[in-house]
Formats: sequence, C-alpha cells, structure tokens
Amino acid sequence: MADTFSTHAGQDPTLRDLLAARPALSMHAIDGLVFEDVPLNAIADALGTPTWVMGARTLRGRYARLSGAMRDAGLDVAIHFAVKANDHLAVLKVLGAQGAGADVVSGGELCRAMAAGIPARDIVFSGVGKTRTEMELALRHDIARINVESAEELELLSAAAVACGRTARIALRINPDVDAGTHAKITTGLAGNKFGIPYDRAADLYAHAATLPGIHPAGLAVHIGSQIERMQPYRQAYARVAELVRVIRARDLTVEVIDCGGGLGISYRHETEGAPEALANAIRLELGDLGTRLEIEPGRWLAGPAGLLLSTVILRKRGYDGMPPFIVLDAAMNDLARPSLYDAWHGIIPLSPRDAVAPTEQVHVVGPVCESGDTFGHDRTLPHLRDGSRVAILDTGAYGMVMSSTYNARPMAAQVMVDGSRWDVIRARQKIESLWEGDIVPDTLTHPAGGK
Ligand SMILES: *Cc1c(COP(=O)(O)O)cnc(C)c1O
Repeated sequence: MADTFSTHAGQDPTLRDLLAARPALSMHAIDGLVFEDVPLNAIADALGTPTWVMGARTLRGRYARLSGAMRDAGLDVAIHFAVKANDHLAVLKVLGAQGAGADVVSGGELCRAMAAGIPARDIVFSGVGKTRTEMELALRHDIARINVESAEELELLSAAAVACGRTARIALRINPDVDAGTHAKITTGLAGNKFGIPYDRAADLYAHAATLPGIHPAGLAVHIGSQIERMQPYRQAYARVAELVRVIRARDLTVEVIDCGGGLGISYRHETEGAPEALANAIRLELGDLGTRLEIEPGRWLAGPAGLLLSTVILRKRGYDGMPPFIVLDAAMNDLARPSLYDAWHGIIPLSPRDAVAPTEQVHVVGPVCESGDTFGHDRTLPHLRDGSRVAILDTGAYGMVMSSTYNARPMAAQVMVDGSRWDVIRARQKIESLWEGDIVPDTLTHPAGGK
C-alpha cells in the first residue's frame, strides 16, 4: 500500500529531501518558503490561513511534460483532465489553455468544465451512476463521448438519446480485473469493484450496443485506479483492451477510440512518481498499432504537486507522559480529507526560514475538529514549531479542496493562484453567515405545540 502512515518516522523524507524533489518550492533566507516566485508568507499575511495555493506555472509545466512524453513516443494522445481532482474554474482554464479536455463524472462537473470554456467536443463523461437528467445534459451539449459502465446504463442511455433525438457516442468502460497495486479505496479495476463492465461480457455488449437506437459504439475505456506507481498494471490492462479490440473487430464492428484512463501516481513521501514517459511507452507498446484515437484522463499527476495548503499552528499541546506533543493547526480534515480518509501522508514544511532551521523533534500534527481521525501527521520529525508558526502542507492540488466540507461549521478556506511572481485570490474565504444561508426554518417549528 503506497499511502499509509509511517510507524518509522526516521524514514520520512527530511525537509531538504522534500524541497529537493519539488522544484517549484524553495527556502530563502529572508523570504522563507517560496512557491514558484511568491513568498508564501505574503499570501498568509494578506489572507490568513487556512488557504489553498495552486501554481499555474507548475500546472502548465506538468501538462507540457505529459503531452511532450506522448508526442516523443510518437503518439497522438488527447489529454482529458479528470475534473474531480480539482474543479476550480481557474485550474480548468489554465489546463484548457494548454489544450486539455475534461473527464467529468457528474452533471455539475460537466457544467463546470463548460463554464471554464472547455469545448463540449473535448469532454468525456464517466461514472457508474449517471442520472437521466445528466445523460440529457450531455446529449444536449453533444459532448465527445459518454463512457458507459453497465448493460443497464446502456439501455437507459439509449432511451434518453431517442427521447432527445440525439445519438450518444459511447465507449464501454471495461473492468480488466487487474490489481493496480494501490490503496483499496482507490483501486477500481478489480472484478469485485463497482466500476466497469466485466471483461467477458464486453464484446457481446458492444455488439448489442451497435443495434440499439440512439447509440454509436465508438470504443473502449479503462481506468484501473489512482496513485499507480508501476507500469505493469497498465500494461496488463492495456493488453486486455487490445485483445478485446481484436475480438470486436473480428465481428465486423469498428473501434475508433481507446480511453486509457488516469491514475498516474505522484510522490507524496517515498513513492515513485509515475513517469509520463513510461506511461507513453506502455500505451505505445500495447495499443500503438491498433489505429485508434487515444486518450488519457489524468487528475492527480497533473494537479497534485501543483498545490499546497497553508496553515498556522494554533497551539502546542503537551503529549501524555513522554509522548510526542500535539501541534494543533488551524486547518483540519474538513479542509484536507485525505489523511483521515486514506491515511495519506503529506509533507509539512514551515514557512519561516527561522522555523526551518530549528532543531527537529517528534510531534503529532492534528487539526481542531472533534474527531480522532483529524490528524495530518503521526510521529513526524519536524523542526520545532511555535504557536503562530505557519506551515505548508504539500501536494494538495488534487483531491484537496474538492473534498472540503464545512464540518464543525468551519467555513471553506480561501484559495489563491500563483503564477510565477504574481498571485491572485481565486476564491475568498467563505463568510461565516453564509454557512446557514441555505437553511430554511418553517415558522411552525418554533410554536411550542409544534405543527399540530
Ligand atoms: C478519478 C478518475 C480519473 C483520474 O484519476 P487520477 O488518479 O486522479 O489520475 C480518471 N478517470 C476516471 C474514470 C476517474 O474516475
């Protein structure tokens, strides 16, 4: 499992290791921690904390590396950003301007992608449970494709398409029964998962799809999980897809497109970052000679390392009898859910140059929410942090802000986009009053006798 708490704190990367692996971050003797060319203290001074920070230059650089790797492998691969990783319009616009399309998993994400100016022809809709309303939305806007995840959904989509007078271009999402070797909560390509169509039924269903009104079977899709480090699961999954393409073509049906999914991992701690060059090679070797159009739909790899979460130490709380102290941050699991949800490890670095060189100590880093799971780091070796010290929690650009809630009536944090040496607020901190703006309290409830 790639993504677990350490019980061996001594093996964690040091501050120096973390910085060395992240070229967009550097520690300056006066300005402290700098992201791209912006001192993070300047942002925290202006907006307070917790505050999310994304880096536009970093996003562009990662997109360029990914698309360059595909090109260098001789492949023409369309890149559809998985919007669920980070759905902020500014993020979608930055990636859209580089040529990215979008992979969406809800009507809301579809609308967000279009609101960010991504053309419908570059949008693919995935997900196990699309409602009739969502199908109609996708059909009305004539998006590139709908990835169908079951025989049942195929029938519903056919009915929706006929009712709208449209033809749905579809791919069947195949469950290749391949173990992506990742965390149980983010593996999606095993036979027992809810995702995709069982491999053995896929060819028959594809043939059936070709007979359904309002359906044009255009190809196959596969997405085996997230935070994948090794190429072997990709190779296995793609080999199975290739085999299926041949079976389907032998039935005189056409396969025009293969959606190779997302899932490329990043290095939070010791993980090997999935290399785009290796992914391109896997695609080329297994799928390169089939003559189909090719697509990928990465989320985490593009956005994860392009974001961080700024937070301030509220107080240090003494540990029990010789146990490490608790560093209580003003960020919590309602902001960044990954540690509580997946036991995820995120690097933590002080913003101040003085804190950065303080002697290290062993600590637990926690949030103030009333849950024991509200923990950012267990048994971490960090430079001594004082009350009021600020830290950056690293690699939070994917599955960070999008998973935030207002649990414990904590307003949604502010968001900033850095771009080289400039930075802009891209969402103001939520106002406390807006937390209950939508609450409706019927007058009758407050009568002593109730509604009788
Ligand atoms: C979540 C998801 C992705 C993106 O996964 P990452 O691990 O973020 O790259 C791609 N495709 C589908 C269908 C998904 O559900």
